[in-house]
Amino acid sequence: MSTTANLTRTEARERSAHLHLSEYRVRLDLTGATDPARATFPSTTRVRFTATTPTTFLDFLGEVSAVVVNDRPVDAASVYDGARVRLDGLRTDGSDNVVIVEGAGHYSRTGEGLHRFVDPVDEQAYLYTQYEPADARRVFATFEQPDLKASFVFEVLAPAGWEVLSNRAPEQVADVAVQGPAVRRWRFAPTERMSTYLTAVVAGPYHQAAGEWSAALPGGETLTVPLRVWCRASLAEHLDADRILEVTRQGLGFYHREFAFPYPWGKYDQVFVPEYNLGAMENPGCVTFTESYVFRSAATRAQYQARANTILHEMAHMWFGDLVTPRWWDDLWLKESFADYMGAHASVAATEFTDAWTAFANRRKAWAYTQDQLPTTHPVVADIPDLEAAKQNFDGITYAKGASVLKQLVAYVGPDAFFAGARAYFAEHAYASTTLTDLLAALEATSGRDLTAWARLWLQTAGTATLAARCTVQDGEIVELVVTQDGTDPVTGEEVLRPHRLAVGLYHLEDDGDGLALVRSHRLEADVDGAATELTAAAGLPAPDLVLVNDDDLTYAKVRLDPAGLETARAHLGALRDGLARSLVWSALWNATRDALLPAGEYVDLVLRHGPAESDSAVLAGLTVNARTAVEDYAPAAERGARRAELAEGAWQRLTAAEPGSDAQLVWARAFAAAAAVVPGAGGRARGLLDGAERVAGLPLDPELRWSLWRALAATGSASRAELDAELERDPTADGVTQHLAAVSSLPAAAVKAADWDTLLRPGGLTNDHVDATIAGFAQPAHRELTAPYAEPYFAALRRIWTEHSIEIASRLVRGLYPHHQDAAEGTVAEAHPAVRRTTGWLEANEDAPAALRRLVVEARDHLLRSLRAQLAGARALR
Ligand SMILES: [Zn+2]
Repeated sequence: MSTTANLTRTEARERSAHLHLSEYRVRLDLTGATDPARATFPSTTRVRFTATTPTTFLDFLGEVSAVVVNDRPVDAASVYDGARVRLDGLRTDGSDNVVIVEGAGHYSRTGEGLHRFVDPVDEQAYLYTQYEPADARRVFATFEQPDLKASFVFEVLAPAGWEVLSNRAPEQVADVAVQGPAVRRWRFAPTERMSTYLTAVVAGPYHQAAGEWSAALPGGETLTVPLRVWCRASLAEHLDADRILEVTRQGLGFYHREFAFPYPWGKYDQVFVPEYNLGAMENPGCVTFTESYVFRSAATRAQYQARANTILHEMAHMWFGDLVTPRWWDDLWLKESFADYMGAHASVAATEFTDAWTAFANRRKAWAYTQDQLPTTHPVVADIPDLEAAKQNFDGITYAKGASVLKQLVAYVGPDAFFAGARAYFAEHAYASTTLTDLLAALEATSGRDLTAWARLWLQTAGTATLAARCTVQDGEIVELVVTQDGTDPVTGEEVLRPHRLAVGLYHLEDDGDGLALVRSHRLEADVDGAATELTAAAGLPAPDLVLVNDDDLTYAKVRLDPAGLETARAHLGALRDGLARSLVWSALWNATRDALLPAGEYVDLVLRHGPAESDSAVLAGLTVNARTAVEDYAPAAERGARRAELAEGAWQRLTAAEPGSDAQLVWARAFAAAAAVVPGAGGRARGLLDGAERVAGLPLDPELRWSLWRALAATGSASRAELDAELERDPTADGVTQHLAAVSSLPAAAVKAADWDTLLRPGGLTNDHVDATIAGFAQPAHRELTAPYAEPYFAALRRIWTEHSIEIASRLVRGLYPHHQDAAEGTVAEAHPAVRRTTGWLEANEDAPAALRRLVVEARDHLLRSLRAQLAGARALR
């Protein structure tokens, strides 16, 4: 990639200060897409704008054959450097400039730009685009920055018989007279003014299901929005469109009421696409989603809930992000935090998933807390100097911490003021770009509160505070209850104590008719600020068995249980009736495990003991994944083998004891399959499930479960290549091909590791999904000895990986191949571990490496240090 591909914020500011865009007309010729030998597609852009500078540039990552500036042909080779098309001699008198760029873009296999996928079931080609933050330039020539909005007219030539979608409905679809296979031209209506990264084209023989949503407009008219849901033809039998459309209508109705700004984009298509790099993308009127939301195998309620959450997240973006767009990627959080918050809020307010905040507390916040303790964390409002930094900022801070902070803001200003502020913001900034100041101004106006200090402490500092309760008790009564806070910004090293609007729950053990229950007797809501805040209302109340700080999860902070609370949780966590409270206690226990305060083995015991009482499948699934991480990364090496066996056996027992056909049964089955990959002795049961010798009533032996069992057998050397090939014959789908690759890559042989390594490092060798599958096989936690020889080649290859692969793929390789499974030797310190020292050595020798690459390596080292510290603490506890 050319060095000028990494557009800087300074350049973007300079460019937008001088340009005003009116329209792009983009013509893409996709008629050759069905021919795998064709690597490129013709692309023509005609852009109209006024300028106050004679010189600027367009962005394009492809091949340029012709450039015309105001009817004047320009020598393409002399103005194009592989990333930018330099434009000279522009009119600066206020009249229009018209620039035409002809060239060709590359079909993508990495999910960036125009991705092409061929379905192994029917050999049909499926295309879709994915641009955020800056990949529209892989498809057409653009001014690639969010604040240069324009209207877009797309024209697409495609094989007859295909469907073609874009942000707007087609205005004209006509057959074109050509030699060879029949071709159809699709011309789409001009869009409203929008950013380049939000444009979209989807093309292929997609299957559709249609619906409609309508609502009354203020003037008495009716707004009608056509709805369609799309997926590959071979997945059509699994597409539960009715369920998806129901959530869609619920969401549109909710936002229509709450935002008081009619849905602005005409129609609403939702397309489930193959080999997608993310959950979904909010292209106005044409949202794209990962195909894993089309459930080919049995799915838990948590999976349906996650899908509904994503649908509502993307839909919120139609207003927040699409209608009003952050000016540059520093303010990415403005739209992502808001959408993430809305995904849960609208789930609760408008759908059957009224408990969505529980999963949020357990899963999303865990992501945020993890990231916010890394040395590379950043304030919610980030400093994003260029596009490579932007690409890495789609992280746990921008999404989950930002949404958590918004949740705290709602508690702080009140929900009425919050939504009134949002309405004013949409009304004032529609079709424009904004920064943080614009949102705060709207919220200050509606809440009457000065948010300057709040924003500085919550949005412009990094790190998570730790909150705990200090409860003094005498004669069965509380004498004093103090909430303590400590917090350090990992970026500046300075103490940061924030204001928290929060609740503290006091819980008692009592018989509630269904047996012993842990029940909340008092809820104290308070403003906590500074290092210690006494809750005076608690004095004189009966001494509780458990004090839960941040009950109801209003604020964002790590919470510690006090010794009495920890004892209660150990014995009675399953008796805590409230799902959100249980989730918060689980979160405190996991944070304590990660911080080497609770031995990993004890966490595993707690999951096995109290997991069966967990009714929320999202929480339960999270617990089983955490238990596995605890065993592989945080347990001392001397203990690991026993813990692995205990987890596999425990998961099996709970699987067989669970109610037939329940979500819990499915979650424990998945946990068993994952655990069996490190316990050769569990292979008999895995094989028994596959061949029917072991029967578990109600358990669906569908493709997902079958493949995970095969992968376990492969990883433990209990399955042959021929058996894996036979399973692929049974399931020759796209997903089957990917799962087969993961299983084959999991075979425990030096030759397999060598082959995995070679294909992974070869640029363009694998698609995005196949990269993930191969890494998963290569890095099987049980294969530490087989992969140890690759530690040194990893460090030697890092810079080459970064330059030879796209940033999307390079990031996966850097993260996935890092030698993160390491054992701490007793009596040592984590910092002295050879893998840590080798990483530090690389960082010192490569200070000039790209910042985005260094960030990944620094994070990998920090995760390793955390694992080693937990192992060492666990080993000390054992003695
Ligand atoms: Zn989003």
